[in-house]
Amino acid sequence: MKIGVLALQGAVSEHVGYLEKGMGNLKITGEIVEVRNNYELDGLDGLIIPGGESTTLSLLMEKEGMFEKLRGVPKIFGTCAGAILLSKNILEPVNGQRSLGFLDIKISRNEYGRQLESFEAPLETKLGNLNGVFIRAPIIEKVGEGIEVLATYGERPVAVQQGNYLATTFHPELSGSTRFHEHFLKIE
Ligand code: GLN
Repeated sequence: MKIGVLALQGAVSEHVGYLEKGMGNLKITGEIVEVRNNYELDGLDGLIIPGGESTTLSLLMEKEGMFEKLRGVPKIFGTCAGAILLSKNILEPVNGQRSLGFLDIKISRNEYGRQLESFEAPLETKLGNLNGVFIRAPIIEKVGEGIEVLATYGERPVAVQQGNYLATTFHPELSGSTRFHEHFLKIE
């Protein structure tokens, strides 16, 4: 198995560590690559788009011509900014910011407001309990019919899946649990 972590910007190394641990737990052997250009997307079985700044990521991805190429990646897991990039609908996109549109969700950036800009909360998810770390997280405002909600915080979905696309508005790579990475590795 060959899994990439998009390494144009943002929180890359934690994902790599969690993937390694997840593979170990699942007894999967495989390769983990940091993806910095279009060519490194070749032959991937899956890709993680990490947190960071979605506007910057969108620009860098466009520059690399990745928007088209990412259609060929069999499965993608987006966390925080990565979730924004996977969504179909970004509320008030900045500077013509593009998204991939693979997840039928409407998402709003930086919606938790100043005081709650970053916070931690225990989450009960369909994959088990974990510590949700939210860092200038977006809010999922609306989900389409094909979306499975794996976790909510208050009324809001914070982890969603549609087929081979998975997204969390929190940072599972800081949760202390590799559940989400293991779940992603198992998606076929
Ligand atoms: N606020 C960032 C954005 O809008 C996301 C923050 C994050 O990924 N931790 O892109």
